[in-house]
Amino acid sequence: GFFLEMLGFSYAYGDGTVALENVSFQVGRGERLALVGPNGAGKSTLAACLAGIRWGTGQYLLDGRKVEGAFRRNLWRHVGLVFQDSADQMVCSRCGDEVAFGLRNLGWPESRIRKKVQAMLHWAGLEGFEDRVPQHLSGGERKRLALAAVLAMEPEVLILDEPTAGLDPQTEQKLLQLLDEVEATLVLISHDVCFVSMLTDRTLLMHRGRIVDDLPTGKFLVDR
Ligand code: ADP
Ligand code: ADP
Repeated sequence: GFFLEMLGFSYAYGDGTVALENVSFQVGRGERLALVGPNGAGKSTLAACLAGIRWGTGQYLLDGRKVEGAFRRNLWRHVGLVFQDSADQMVCSRCGDEVAFGLRNLGWPESRIRKKVQAMLHWAGLEGFEDRVPQHLSGGERKRLALAAVLAMEPEVLILDEPTAGLDPQTEQKLLQLLDEVEATLVLISHDVCFVSMLTDRTLLMHRGRIVDDLPTGKFLVDR
């Protein structure tokens, strides 16, 4: 079977706005997928549902298991989401604690956490940042910190919501290099044609809460 699968999945917000309507798609393990479409198409809502933060109706299976009950409550262990605004994601007052946060929830021993924090900060080009305040970092530094914190937990699926928003071209290039090393199954929400073409093989096009096209990324970009 497929690694990740949604079948007839729908989501409506509390005010009645239908953000996802009968969404079905399958993703193979390790596949790199782009999610594109106009504002309001439902991309961020789908990201939240894939990460288990929001829950609609229909089926969602990960690695053959139905995402429900305890598995859904623990989905954060398997599916990492990097928010569009990294500042929304920061819960700690020190960068080191930010990377350690999820690992502490996972119950890792403190000595192992310390090593992992060092390794992840180094990977993200943030060595020596342990005691810095996340809110005081530049946009690019904060994005890399958010990525380091999410990837520290070694998620099988990584979802990125507009990761290049507000980044300058050099910073964007740095982020691209980091992401290219990631082995997780990737779902990238982005309006950035360059980023989408460099990182993904397949593109899902969304419109008004539905998936209206599913194409190889190269073909999608040419047809545009
Ligand atoms: P819910 O309780 O449906 O999950 P939220 O707590 O996310 O909703 O938001 C509360 C309310 O704020 C929504 O019911 C809606 O009226 C409004 N709202 C927030 N974000 C948006 C948005 N992007 N578009 C339209 N309305 C929004
Ligand atoms: P996208 O990420 O593609 O821009 P969203 O998933 O943010 O799309 O939004 C899908 C639809 O749901 C839009 O009509 C949007 O206004 C609505 N929406 C988003 N967040 C909320 C919310 N919290 N409450 C009510 N409606 C919302």
